[in-house]
Amino acid sequence: MPQIRPPLATPSITFDSNGLVTAIAQDRATGEVRMVAWMNAEALDKTLATGLATFYSRSRQKLWVKGETSGHRLRVHSVLADCDADTLLLLVDPEGASCHTGRPTCFFRLVTPEGVAEPGRTALPYLFELEETVAERASATAERSYTRSLLDGGAAKINVKIEEEASELARAIAGESDERVASEAADVLYHVLVGLRLRGVPLRSVVETLLARSARSGLAEKASRQK
Ligand SMILES: [Zn+2]
Repeated sequence: MPQIRPPLATPSITFDSNGLVTAIAQDRATGEVRMVAWMNAEALDKTLATGLATFYSRSRQKLWVKGETSGHRLRVHSVLADCDADTLLLLVDPEGASCHTGRPTCFFRLVTPEGVAEPGRTALPYLFELEETVAERASATAERSYTRSLLDGGAAKINVKIEEEASELARAIAGESDERVASEAADVLYHVLVGLRLRGVPLRSVVETLLARSARSGLAEKASRQK
């Protein structure tokens, strides 16, 4: 069984009998699971050295750099191994769509007892799914909704709610129950999403701003500095 040299005080990676390990790519800003592929020791080595997700193609029997033809690369921030070190999780900053179908993620089919629906909701964590719901409400012409009425009222109407909910949250933090804090924080988040929608600013940009502030460099950055 090929083993990648262990640079850390953790077990080395357990490759299967074909010398491969499953690698899951997760968008570190949104938490969205983007794709799953295989790596051999060389692919893992190359990923760690270049900071670009590099996989092993079982059909073509060779390494491939994700996005080498499409340009939709996955810049790898960090690689984690699971408890028995036989599955890898890549935390990535994706450049463009990750699925060859043009969808952001490969996970767009919803499996139910009735079968597989296509396309289903993608593998978005809830806050980002809610962002999509707000966008859908914004463009729905027929039904009126609370979200729609806020957006129709523009910045003036949305800001009244943001300020109102923010002061309710502040009061809750100062001396109300944990439930009230969670509830008011939820109201603030929801109205922030509506405000972001009004301005066309993606929630992703907000998270990326936070990530930039934390400024912990990743593999991709380290690799580019070594050049
Ligand atoms: Zn795909």
